[in-house]
Amino acid sequence: PKVEEKLFQNRYLVDAGKPHIKVRAHEVPSAGLLSMTKLCPAGCYALTESGQVEVAADGCLECGTCRIMTKTTGEIEWNYPRGGFGVLYKFG
Ligand code: SF4
Repeated sequence: PKVEEKLFQNRYLVDAGKPHIKVRAHEVPSAGLLSMTKLCPAGCYALTESGQVEVAADGCLECGTCRIMTKTTGEIEWNYPRGGFGVLYKFG
């Protein structure tokens, strides 16, 4: 099956009011942060009209790409969701 069909099998539990990923306030995003608007497999990153990058962590697959891409700039605060929240992978 296609990857979209497989992803559809995963369930996502939102920990309301406690996003596990935050983008720190910035004026101009680094190239790494900016690239996340294209690279995030869950489409969590978007560019605002004023040119900042924002994240909506709902649906995050915890792949860690955004954490790696901003490792040197520290633009993102990244934590695993609390136990029981976040992506629930279904195998098989
Ligand atoms: Fe997207 Fe992966 Fe970052 Fe989650 S960890 S926001 S899926 S790039």
